[in-house]
Amino acid sequence: MKYVIGVDDRLAENIIRCPTCGREYRSVASLNLHKRYYCQKQPSMACSLCRYKAYHRGNLKRHVVVHHGEQYVDAVLYKKK
Ligand SMILES: [Zn+2]
Ligand SMILES: [Zn+2]
Repeated sequence: MKYVIGVDDRLAENIIRCPTCGREYRSVASLNLHKRYYCQKQPSMACSLCRYKAYHRGNLKRHVVVHHGEQYVDAVLYKKK
């Protein structure tokens, strides 16, 4: 009889760590994606209300909603030049 205490050990053994930055991924595919596009790259989406930066528009949008309020989403994400 095997006892599982607290953690799901099936999940733990599937975690793969990026050798460069130490981020953890559940699959080789997502680690490869990370290494190719994100690892040690600079985030390109910047919040104009604070110094937050994101890799994706979706992440920036979430940041704006959480930290500044939904009314700022249009101004930050879809600002006109
Ligand atoms: Zn990395
Ligand atoms: Zn911000």
